[in-house]
Amino acid sequence: MLWKRAAAPLEAPPPTTPAAHPAPHPAPHPVASDDHIRFDGIEKLYPGGVQALHAVSFAIRRGGVFGIIGRSGAGKSTLLRSINMLERPTGGRVLVDGVDVGTLDEEALVHLRRRIGMIFQHFNLLSAKTVRENIGLPLRVSGVGAAETRRRVDELLELVGLSDKADVYPSKLSGGQKQRVGIARALVHRPEILLCDEATSALDPETTHSILGLLRDINATLGLTIVLITHDMAVIRAICDEVLVLDQGRRVEQGPVWTVFGAPQGEATRALLRPLQHGVPDDIARRLLPEPPKQGGRAVLALRFTGESHPDGVSLASLLALVPDATLLHGGIDRIQGHAQGDLLIAVPVAALRSAVGSRFSPDSLKVLGYVANDV
Ligand code: ADP
Repeated sequence: MLWKRAAAPLEAPPPTTPAAHPAPHPAPHPVASDDHIRFDGIEKLYPGGVQALHAVSFAIRRGGVFGIIGRSGAGKSTLLRSINMLERPTGGRVLVDGVDVGTLDEEALVHLRRRIGMIFQHFNLLSAKTVRENIGLPLRVSGVGAAETRRRVDELLELVGLSDKADVYPSKLSGGQKQRVGIARALVHRPEILLCDEATSALDPETTHSILGLLRDINATLGLTIVLITHDMAVIRAICDEVLVLDQGRRVEQGPVWTVFGAPQGEATRALLRPLQHGVPDDIARRLLPEPPKQGGRAVLALRFTGESHPDGVSLASLLALVPDATLLHGGIDRIQGHAQGDLLIAVPVAALRSAVGSRFSPDSLKVLGYVANDV
């Protein structure tokens, strides 16, 4: 039987031997709220003078999957590692369940780190130990007995789908299987929070998909809060509820993924999202004219659907009815958190442009990009 974690702030660890799990450090003023983690004016100045974070403030909701995105060097890792104090901020506070983790002494920090599991891009497995030993090691180190460790490791192997690999060494595993071991090991102390540091960046797309599915299942069944950093927007789109955009150590914007992806406010966000968008293909861009050709010709329109006007989907019937001669050139529609979003590039006869632009058919934005001769 796998455990299920109810969302409970400052929950004591499960009963084991007192030596294995000391009582939680007394929290000065525990705050039961939907905010699981709160960053309050976080600064980080590295020795040598790099200011990695500038007064970053935001909150992470309990039980959600929260993504942090930004270019390389934006400060994502520094921010993530401040949650378990692997990286100490030089200003501001990080609150976990209302407790300022910067004030914890060594013993309380050890306890905090058990409540916060972490997985890494390169898995960090011990090559001389089997899968079972890798997963069980943190429990043995914290004083849990052999029988209890074995029982717990068996549960975790089942959870991550590796029951048949218990006695195998990491060198015999695929990348996806290694990350499953990393996930199992991160869950041994039944954490409330799981930090994922570019956890799928070393994996191929198919394996990434299956690991993201596992993380989603873990989030749903165990109720833990997942915080992940990635440079891969598709990862955010696939599993996150909320996203924070960082740029040069500053918070650019934050919100539900479908709103940030559908209508990005910051230039840094727009730049990050460009690879997901269906831009104008080169062959069409080369032929675009600023004015209609002398005779006939077609207008090229970009239709953007942010999921605001038709959350359930894009009204194809109205598109066809109002722009009967439209040609679909390029584009795609995705679903993000139940909202249909995407871009379509269409060409319409110049003569029909006025009715198309003035029609009731309303994507969230419609732009005339230019004109081409009739043969597009
Ligand atoms: P990201 O995870 O977004 O790539 P990081 O948090 O790793 O960004 O780094 C943010 C900035 O801090 C970068 O300029 C990086 O070079 C710098 N930095 C990170 N770690 C250290 C360190 N230990 N010492 C000095 N500078 C660092």
